Amino acid sequence: SCFIRLFVVVVVLLGSVTMHVSDPVLPSPPLEALRLEGKLSFDDGHLAAKDFGNRYRLLPAAVVHPASVSDVASTVRHVFRLGPSSKLTVAARGHGHSLRGQAQADGGIVVRMESLGGGTRVSHRGGQPYADASGGELWINVLEECLKHGLAPKSWTDYLHLTVGGTLSNAGISGQAFRHGPQISNVNQLEIVTGKGEVMNCSEEQNADLFHAALGGLGQFGIITRAQIALEPAPEMVRWIRVLYSDFASFTEDQEMLISAKETFDYIEGFVIINRTGLLNNWRSSFDPQDPARASQFDSDGKILFCLEMTKNFNRHEAESMSQVSYLEFLDRVHVSEVKLRSKGLWEIPHPWLNLFVPRTRIKDFAEGVFGKILTDSNNGPILLYPLNRSKWDNRTSAVIPDEEIFYLVALLSSAPSHGSLERALKQNSEIVDFCNKAGIKMKQYLPYYTTREEWNGHYGDRWKTFGHRKRTYDPLAILAPGQRIFRKPL
Ligand code: FAD
Repeated sequence: SCFIRLFVVVVVLLGSVTMHVSDPVLPSPPLEALRLEGKLSFDDGHLAAKDFGNRYRLLPAAVVHPASVSDVASTVRHVFRLGPSSKLTVAARGHGHSLRGQAQADGGIVVRMESLGGGTRVSHRGGQPYADASGGELWINVLEECLKHGLAPKSWTDYLHLTVGGTLSNAGISGQAFRHGPQISNVNQLEIVTGKGEVMNCSEEQNADLFHAALGGLGQFGIITRAQIALEPAPEMVRWIRVLYSDFASFTEDQEMLISAKETFDYIEGFVIINRTGLLNNWRSSFDPQDPARASQFDSDGKILFCLEMTKNFNRHEAESMSQVSYLEFLDRVHVSEVKLRSKGLWEIPHPWLNLFVPRTRIKDFAEGVFGKILTDSNNGPILLYPLNRSKWDNRTSAVIPDEEIFYLVALLSSAPSHGSLERALKQNSEIVDFCNKAGIKMKQYLPYYTTREEWNGHYGDRWKTFGHRKRTYDPLAILAPGQRIFRKPL
């Protein structure tokens, strides 16, 4: 053992000598050396280590509050120049509404995009209106600015307190996507800071590969600092209608008919009610903005019901007596429930959500295998179920959807107020995924979460090669969005 110890000492000494001689390690410039117009802070990491999922807490080394795009670029360039041996990474954090630490950077730098400023400017090009918005802007602010001009973005998420860069890194879907496609189908141009710290403008015409890579790209190819978003004239009001079904086939047939019809509604969604409803069940699509919980609180009496939800836009002079609300109230409907849940301490709790895109030809099998069997009630959160059409998505973007023209979003939006309910929801989620795998239902996860290379490979399928190639091109040191756990530094 004496010999072994001596051998180890010699090897260690030799190692250090070799390092000194052939590979001098230059001291890395400390983070404090970063010169920013905004702020670099070392004491608010705990906020950057939280998200809506409320289950992952990865502390960063520092948080950058950028005041300009050049602050974002300087930050990434600083890390890029440290080279592949540095473990430092950079995560853009939008509104932190990820579910599993996707906007966190363990021991890295979090760039708080909401500090970026720059707001929203409304302009026209070739007669077409668009909003030029900061990547860190909340959609509610984009909407409010656009409404001053009588305009609004075409495609939405159900909830508007999310950032432009955050939803464009996923897809951004809601009940308008059947007509306009997801939010990523409604972007004219992006300004991006790549993983090398370069600021690039991109669109269909200019740097098109980066443009498509970043849309739905899970933050892997660059930080979106600005986006030009297509607008349309905003209606003043919406008529808001719900229809209940007890038969799944009629429910989905009607949904599919409505998304394919020429003359149809402006927003089409749907949800599933299993064994009664409650506050947590209702929050996502509250019907009455004045009293979201009461409006749909009824006992489904042990049955499974399906609710089709639609709206029709109109202007005030066309008004008549029906369930109607202003366009802003309708689009911001979930926020009303957020305020209510917050007051009861039910917002900042774990959210073990599972979002799946299920191909149309297997949605019936999915419903039969899951509703009432794996999921025996919907008391811990809404279950959305509505169809989307592939032709409204651009397959050059990084978003992944099933290989059929019509596919369904099935969003299981559980809240877990107790440890027991968290365990139960996680178990149900894995049972549902297992069920799909065993039944050969080729679903794709939306807001995907995987931990192994094989799983990511399977998620992207034959697009994995392009995804990897784009990563090597735009973020060759794998600095960006480490919380997605797709690539590890160094690549
Ligand atoms: P964050 O959670 O902060 O970031 C998400 C990911 O994007 C991270 O990897 C982050 O590093 C990266 N990122 C953030 N900003 C940028 C940027 N500027 N450039 C590049 N990468 C960036 N989604 C829908 O499609 N439809 C819905 O109806 C919908 N409703 C929701 C309702 C609620 C209550 C919640 C919590 C989420 C909902 N989502 C919905 C999901 C939501 O779109 C995503 O979670 C989105 O990422 C949240 O945006 P964020 O600004 O909070 O992003």
